[in-house]
Amino acid sequence: MVVSGSTIDSLLRENERYPPSDAFRTRARIHDDAVYESARKDPEAFWAEEARTLAWARPWAKVLEWDPPFAKWFVGGRLNVSVNCLDRHVATARRNQAAIVWEGEPGDRRTLTYHDLWRDVNRFANVLKGLGVGRGDRVTIYLPMIPELAVAMLACARIGAVHSVVFGGFSAHAIRDRMEDAESRIIVTADAGYRRGNPLPLKRTVDEAIAGLDLVRHAVVFRRAGIEVPMREGRDHWWHDLMEKAEPECEPEAMDATDPLFILYTSGTTGKPKGVQHSTGGYLVGVATTTKYVFDLRDDDLYWCTADCGWVTGHSYIVYGPLANGASVFMYEGAPDWPEPDRWWRIIEERDVTILYTAPTAIRAFMRWGDEHPKRHDLSSLRLLGTVGEPINPEAWRWYSRTIGGGRCPVVDTWWQTETGMILITPLPGTTTTKPGSATRPFPGIEAEVVDEHGRRVPVNRGGYLVISKPWPGMLQTLYKDPERYREVYWSQIPGKYFTGDGARVDEDGYLWLMGRIDDVINVAGHRIGTMEIESALVSHSKVAEAAVVGKPHPVKGQSLVAYVVLKRGEKGSDALKRDLQKHVREAIGAIAVPDDLYITEKLPKTRSGKIMRRVIRSIVSGQEIGDATTLEDPGAVDEVRKWLQEIEGSRGDRR
Ligand code: ATP
Ligand code: MG
Repeated sequence: MVVSGSTIDSLLRENERYPPSDAFRTRARIHDDAVYESARKDPEAFWAEEARTLAWARPWAKVLEWDPPFAKWFVGGRLNVSVNCLDRHVATARRNQAAIVWEGEPGDRRTLTYHDLWRDVNRFANVLKGLGVGRGDRVTIYLPMIPELAVAMLACARIGAVHSVVFGGFSAHAIRDRMEDAESRIIVTADAGYRRGNPLPLKRTVDEAIAGLDLVRHAVVFRRAGIEVPMREGRDHWWHDLMEKAEPECEPEAMDATDPLFILYTSGTTGKPKGVQHSTGGYLVGVATTTKYVFDLRDDDLYWCTADCGWVTGHSYIVYGPLANGASVFMYEGAPDWPEPDRWWRIIEERDVTILYTAPTAIRAFMRWGDEHPKRHDLSSLRLLGTVGEPINPEAWRWYSRTIGGGRCPVVDTWWQTETGMILITPLPGTTTTKPGSATRPFPGIEAEVVDEHGRRVPVNRGGYLVISKPWPGMLQTLYKDPERYREVYWSQIPGKYFTGDGARVDEDGYLWLMGRIDDVINVAGHRIGTMEIESALVSHSKVAEAAVVGKPHPVKGQSLVAYVVLKRGEKGSDALKRDLQKHVREAIGAIAVPDDLYITEKLPKTRSGKIMRRVIRSIVSGQEIGDATTLEDPGAVDEVRKWLQEIEGSRGDRR
């Protein structure tokens, strides 16, 4: 991506402030800002102190070796991630505490204590070994959200194999590409997983993916739904058969801190998926530390991150971060609105979930479905809320805080990426005064800046490019088998700094406001505007649930703005409402941001991870060739967007 133009105009302003309550602050792990100052003075000492809380087979000789753009953390140190997530706790009173509290979509329930999980991981590690998997080998995992997904990941970690988890909603094509790129000879899957009442046939998709792929030697199949699946003699094995025969204990491999723990292909919102490679030691220190402080974890918490383990959020904040801290993690298999849109709230009430970490896209969906669903349930067990994945519109933030958090729970808006491995920008709930829509400030030990294309800091409240100025422990090591692409994508734009690809501004209090991807910044009459701010203004209208804004070439203005708006349930679109929405944007931001075209639609096209596909919409409305959109995760998505656009733009009467 080429960065041009100096800064981005940031037009949206929010003035509300939410300081932590005294009740929260006094009990919080971090209740003042002292840690920021000490970590700033000596970040390596800060990370080393956190690293010492983990179990090492051999101590490190050097905290950081920085040979830009390649960082090595805890050089010389050896450790095993599964020992840190399991054995360490099994040796204490945590042994019989819940590690994973699980609920399947049909309502079936299982709880695995730390000891249960340890047993399964040991056996499955031996299963993998029995199939010839050793240190450094890549294992593909394609499972629904069942405890076996965590078991398979941790079993890889135990024997030093590198896992590559592929989201259970992806196509055969996506699995095949990733297996080929990772040269993975084995895949772990299930007969099916439940989604909206139906078994989703995973094994069938795997069969299609690996047909004729000579590389693949084994498929291990967990029986989840009990549906009929063809098993190929010699290649396919039932999970339970192998587990029965496996030895109960598996000696953990002492891995170098700099050995890879996993590869995860990015979701591909912006192009061809990249194999992001993460380390063992630095990554674990990064996710363990951030989980502990950002979620203010305590022994009596039941922590629920609603992501899928197919995304990095599931890796870092369902499996590795929480388990390294000995937390009790709640895991749910299915859809949020199955059988009714109150499923999550029912779960929270029945299970006494205390921490909820989810995505703005889910929050906006719940807003749209109506307040009656959460209102039917007692959500008073919740004490902390988090979000990740996209900028959160202030309106959605407030709804989350008020309707779900009862005005009592701090909201942590956490900014990070697959590549960063760990949360980098976030409030600390016991000390940070939050502002709806701002991810606030860098985590202790992290240095972030907003700069222009020459790498100069931009003035207060001017938009620019978000960069990370110093290496951090959870950072990606490289792109798998492609160090040149790694250098090019992340380190060539602003020399010496990690280029995030996101736009942001810093306000007068030093708070960071994320403005979406730089690709989503458009140029209107000489102003560079982040579409997210206009979307936010639209969503702040009482009848609007969600909005997508894209730019379209315009002979005079450079670009004109096109908005697609989804209304809350029960609201009806009309010309009067459209005029009202335009007026609303004018008042919130200014005339420059008023969309030239505005369409009301039933839904917005999204990626599998729930993000709006602005790039595809933009290419199509601009009449451009989709180009590398064909490398999108789901090439069918392009056709879907095209059809969607034809439907809503079909009737000229709808135009404004
Ligand atoms: P790809 O890189 O393959 O195109 P992706 O960027 O959507 O996909 P992720 O790594 O899961 O994949 O998402 C990281 C991006 O999500 C960030 O770069 C940012 O644009 C957005 N994001 C995540 N959390 C936040 C947040 N709290 N506020 C604003 N944006 C966020
Ligand atoms: Mg990205």
